Amino acid sequence: MATLTFEQARQCVLKEVRASQPTPGIEMVDLSAAAGRVLAEPIASDRDYPALSRSVRDGFAVRAADLPGELLVIGEVRAGESFAGEVQPGQALEIMTGAPLPQGADSVVMLEHTTVAGDRVSVPRTLARGENVSPQASQARAGEVMLEPGLRLGFAEIALLAMVGAAKVAVYARPQVAIVATGDEIVEVKETPLDYQIRNSNVESLAVQVQRAGGCPMVLPIARDLYQATRELAEHGLRFDMLLLSGGVSAGKYDIVERVLADLGAEFYFDRVLIMPGQPLVFGKARGKFFFGLPGNPASTMVTFEIFARAAVELLGGGKEPSLPLVFSKLSEDFRQKTGLTRFLPSVLSADGARVTPLPWQGSGDVPSLARANAFLVTEPDRETWAAGDWIRVLLK
Ligand code: AMP
Ligand code: MG
Repeated sequence: MATLTFEQARQCVLKEVRASQPTPGIEMVDLSAAAGRVLAEPIASDRDYPALSRSVRDGFAVRAADLPGELLVIGEVRAGESFAGEVQPGQALEIMTGAPLPQGADSVVMLEHTTVAGDRVSVPRTLARGENVSPQASQARAGEVMLEPGLRLGFAEIALLAMVGAAKVAVYARPQVAIVATGDEIVEVKETPLDYQIRNSNVESLAVQVQRAGGCPMVLPIARDLYQATRELAEHGLRFDMLLLSGGVSAGKYDIVERVLADLGAEFYFDRVLIMPGQPLVFGKARGKFFFGLPGNPASTMVTFEIFARAAVELLGGGKEPSLPLVFSKLSEDFRQKTGLTRFLPSVLSADGARVTPLPWQGSGDVPSLARANAFLVTEPDRETWAAGDWIRVLLK
């Protein structure tokens, strides 16, 4: 079976899920419940924006050709009003930010650039035509499509929906993602583990990650490292839109997840990726559903979900462009690694984003280190050393 590099594996996930991406169901939700959901319909402008040319400053609406000069003030127009008359040559109309530009005027001179005396305003400077005016339809024309289906709705998109009067919005149904933890050593969170047992933290982190990716986490019972139990839970999980299994994908005698999936008729796209944490990582399809067998060490589970499975959940939810927020920052200290793997190491990115510092890390089981991190430093597999001040890729957490 294939061993892939990080880039190859990510491309493989995107390609396979895109190729058989079913169109999700559609739900109508209130605008107030639409944030974080994926838009299922094109959103067109209900009118021109702005609907009329309007002032972007407090000042005087004028004819630019009259300036510099002294003008007769013929009245005022406030935001939320429209002025019935017309500004003639030699005249000005006091205007507030947001108010429509009156007939006859072509520009607005800022209040700060004028001197007012009685019904006269004097403007010592010239003005370009159109200055301080937001022209009609300069942001959007009536009927123009402004948001396309497949877009995840954030605060600015919600503002736009509100602006065009979309009180109800068509969004895609969230994909249901089954989560199965495997392992004889795993106990429930509320239990007190014996020294050789471990609480089931992976389903909790995965549930949060699935939710953040726009999916609906469906946590199934723990699968013990027995063929029949694992098979039954995997089979159950494959009834949902996608299946995540944690643990049981290494080379150990009781790592039976791959065998179970193979017996369920799985097609495997890869089962090893040259990354750290998370080398043994299984991606495939069985009974028409995609699954990931994520390595059980908590850091491996979290990182491999972020860099591979999240994209699959986003695509299954109707998203068009799965994101991986990789940025560049400068290392605050020298750094070296053994070549061969793309490493994702818990790090702290400074508040201004300018510096990144790797955290002490005890390996893939080190949850406390991951909890202290706000980012992962991402190494290039073929480079051995970095000096303090070198640029390096960073994945935001
Ligand atoms: P595995 O991939 O099954 O070999 O698991 C590797 C290690 O990950 C185990 O020894 C546990 O320490 C840890 N682990 C596995 N599953 C979980 C889980 N659901 N929650 C927390 N830790 C886990
Ligand atoms: Mg195990």
